[in-house]
Amino acid sequence: MSDPRTITIIGAGLAGTLLATLLAQRGWTVEVFERRGDPRMHGYAGGRSINLALAERGLHALRQAGADLGVMQQAVMMRGRMVHPLGGTPELQRYGRDDSEVIWSINRGELNIVLIEAAEAAGATLHFDRRLEDVDFAAGTMRVLGEGHDERRAFDTLVGADGAGSTLRARMMRMQDLGERTEWLDHGYKELEIPPGPGGAFRIEPNALHIWPRGHYMCIALPNDERTFTVTLFMPHEGPYPSFATVDDGPAARALFEAQFADAVPLIPMLEEDYERNPTGMLGTLYLDRWHLDGRAVLLGDAAHAMVPFHGQGMNCAFEDCVALADRLAPGVEFADAYAAFAAERMPDAAAIQHMALENYIEMRDRVDDHDYRLQRALELLLQERHPGRFVPHYAMVSFMRIPYSVALARSELQRGILARATAGLASLDAVDWAALDADVRARLTPIAD
Ligand code: FAD
Repeated sequence: MSDPRTITIIGAGLAGTLLATLLAQRGWTVEVFERRGDPRMHGYAGGRSINLALAERGLHALRQAGADLGVMQQAVMMRGRMVHPLGGTPELQRYGRDDSEVIWSINRGELNIVLIEAAEAAGATLHFDRRLEDVDFAAGTMRVLGEGHDERRAFDTLVGADGAGSTLRARMMRMQDLGERTEWLDHGYKELEIPPGPGGAFRIEPNALHIWPRGHYMCIALPNDERTFTVTLFMPHEGPYPSFATVDDGPAARALFEAQFADAVPLIPMLEEDYERNPTGMLGTLYLDRWHLDGRAVLLGDAAHAMVPFHGQGMNCAFEDCVALADRLAPGVEFADAYAAFAAERMPDAAAIQHMALENYIEMRDRVDDHDYRLQRALELLLQERHPGRFVPHYAMVSFMRIPYSVALARSELQRGILARATAGLASLDAVDWAALDADVRARLTPIAD
């Protein structure tokens, strides 16, 4: 290919580096500007281990870039949710049928480094310590700042992979109203750490995503390959106990954990210190009506559609965006046409996963250990066996398949109705009316083509 134009990507986070790799592999000249230092030299995110759940959608995108092997060397398999009830024994709820249906815990910093190296190996040029400050769209130039560095550079087109607080999005908004609105969740999060046990072993079951559901709040823990777990406490910012306003220091955090997450207390030796030192994160959903400014700029990943993390799909969705955009950028294409087609394809799917992510918070913190939920979940698995390819559990459609999120959402809503009708008033599945239920499934659901 000999398209002389350069694609300039803002942000060498997860989406920026994967997109740079895909485009450089397809022959584009790619420049990437990242405000942080090179994590290969400076470490990542203040040295804390933060991990992410990688599912089939994200893994498939990594395969397209040939980056999957490097990433999977550091991944820890999560077979399901290990639910820790208050005062009860932890129980594993499998996500899928067997070990072919699992998700993976990945260290964010290590993943970013693998992708930075993939982008460079593919021929992209990465500039670290270079922050996009301003854009003059009329002149086709941008201002980039760094330590002792202030430069104006020309660009052909800009791609905003600069995350939820995107500077590029703010500069695009000066040219055209993108219809931006953010709905902040009234809950936030705090990260804590479970270090390795004696002899360097995992302290609790490593191949699971641990959840302590407590109604209006919850804790989760994901394993890291260095045998630690990142624990995240999600709870309201304000309001009655417990909230971040009422649990406002280390001793208060210890008291909360002793009362509500007692089995986790001996696992987190630095509980007070972690609680006081680590910031309380904000969570929100970013909605935009437009993702691009004709052919001059386009947004993707969190810059276009940040979401709450409860389905573990923000990065997975961002990675799908990268493949979709790279596929639209054929040699010689008009950028405006490619961006319009990309946005038309991805906006309904981003909206669908944003919605499902909000719904999943209630499921995780409140429903996973209630009777109706468990009954419906058991029925879901039986229906999957009775109607293979037609009744596919919600979690499987989102996490193990690549059908568009919008299709997964529409089918999940139909399935939820089927499950609710079939289990209404039942204490167990023994009394299910299978003939009526099978007819309901066949009437409402067509077979899925993945
Ligand atoms: P980012 O990863 O935010 O990268 C943006 C990059 O742009 C950064 O490197 C930043 O330094 C750079 N940048 C910003 N401004 C500028 C500028 N002006 N100039 C140059 N560079 C700039 N997703 C999952 O799939 N699974 C999970 O389990 C999961 N868990 C999560 C848990 C939490 C608590 C949170 C908050 C999110 C979680 N996510 C998860 C979501 C996931 O983190 C994001 O969706 C993902 O990081 C988006 O990637 P991105 O590249 O679009 O943005």
